[in-house]
Amino acid sequence: MLNPKTTQKEFGGDLGAIAITIGLPALTVVFYLLCNTDYVIGSSYSSVYSAVKLQVNHINWIQDVFLNFKVWDFYLKWFFGLMLLDILVPGKHLKGIKLRDNTQLDYKINGLNLLVVLCSVFAVRIYRSDNYFLPELEFIYNNFLSLAIVSICFSFILSNFLFIYSYFPLKTLNGFKTNERILSINGNSSSVFYNWFIGRELNPRIFNGLVDLKYFCELKPGLLLWLAILLSCGHHQYHEVGYIQDSLILVILLQLFYIFDGVLNEEGVISMIDITTDGFGFMLAFGDLSLVPFTYCLQARYLSLVDYHLGLFNCSLITILMFLGYYIFHSSNQQKSDWKSQKLNHKNYKYIQTQRGTRLLCDGWWAISQHTNYLGDWIISWSWCLCTGFSTFLTYYYVCYFAGLLIHRQQRDEAKCSAKYGQQWEEYKEKVPYKIVPYIY
Ligand code: NDP
Repeated sequence: MLNPKTTQKEFGGDLGAIAITIGLPALTVVFYLLCNTDYVIGSSYSSVYSAVKLQVNHINWIQDVFLNFKVWDFYLKWFFGLMLLDILVPGKHLKGIKLRDNTQLDYKINGLNLLVVLCSVFAVRIYRSDNYFLPELEFIYNNFLSLAIVSICFSFILSNFLFIYSYFPLKTLNGFKTNERILSINGNSSSVFYNWFIGRELNPRIFNGLVDLKYFCELKPGLLLWLAILLSCGHHQYHEVGYIQDSLILVILLQLFYIFDGVLNEEGVISMIDITTDGFGFMLAFGDLSLVPFTYCLQARYLSLVDYHLGLFNCSLITILMFLGYYIFHSSNQQKSDWKSQKLNHKNYKYIQTQRGTRLLCDGWWAISQHTNYLGDWIISWSWCLCTGFSTFLTYYYVCYFAGLLIHRQQRDEAKCSAKYGQQWEEYKEKVPYKIVPYIY
């Protein structure tokens, strides 16, 4: 059967999906209200409520935020401009995993080339600028709230489009010689809302397959907007006070490194659960286009507004922490990727042979815990938060949120692997009992 019915709902089912659909966009706005040019949360929590209330009453939500046409114009040009660039910039082609109709999709890997184009444009703009002033970065900084809201609205519009689109028959035949689209195993339940949230179609493609919407959104518009927001924070502080403080420089550099690494290693995305298993609905659209750019930058926005210097010693400690996390994150992901592509000699490693024909690696990083790569990623998140000092808990939301995300992801992956590998997965769990953090979880 090409599209089995979804029997088990994730994310707490319909109620969980409603809570996330309302809660996370609201949180994005709350973060702005707690950290902006009029008010920055500090260690005293007494005035938070009145400060937020004052701002909510002062903001002209319709004219300046939701229907700010300059911002809509900017955002649409950003999104579709990047899409056009993505189509035009060449790259090498790789095959994705085998789908249920026994076909494999083609993916263009052009992250490096795209970054070269964007960095060149940026370098020319900086070179030709007057005292390094770039109006587009000032625009992003000054219209942060409206941009965030516009991106959330855009995610809603995109999810509606994707949902309707998933009901149209394919123009070309699939591997079973029918016009049926391949749906996500999670997005084919009896609940319309849940399917909209989690995404019905597995790999929606438009323009005769030229653009894979999920793959494009996963790496390009959101991640690169996060990059632009980071630059806008440094740009704002430089033009306000004449310099950029060390804590802000550090958090910008650390996060830029992470973004560049993500775009440059885009091959890894093809085998990620987001591409192989999840549909493309509101959950991923909002996560990629709004949550990542507008909340992951909170540390940089905070530091662009407060006076906080780290000094060389603290900068060095934080950098060491970041690269320790990065080393674990990168080399464990690399080891799995090399293992799967047979770049590693299987004779030299311990593994479990599965009935599906694949081999579960039980050596190196993959003997320490079932997801050592998540541990590395989590350590990286600590390094970003520590740049902001200890005056507020707000900037530490990221380590808490990310821990929740990774634990939930591990549980979903465990359910997937348990169903896929059965007894061999039980054997693997016996050999590698810890899930993420050795001796703790
Ligand atoms: P993993 O890279 O851990 O991949 C899990 C899959 O790998 C399993 O489903 C299984 O797939 C295979 N696998 C698991 N164990 C083994 C083993 N021992 N030997 C061989 N294959 C194995 O998870 P993700 O795709 O979720 O994450 C990839 C990276 O992305 C992580 O480093 C994570 O931290 C990062 N990430 C970052 C996010 C962010 O917001 N910054 C969000 C999400 C992820 P198969 O069916 O092929 O066997």
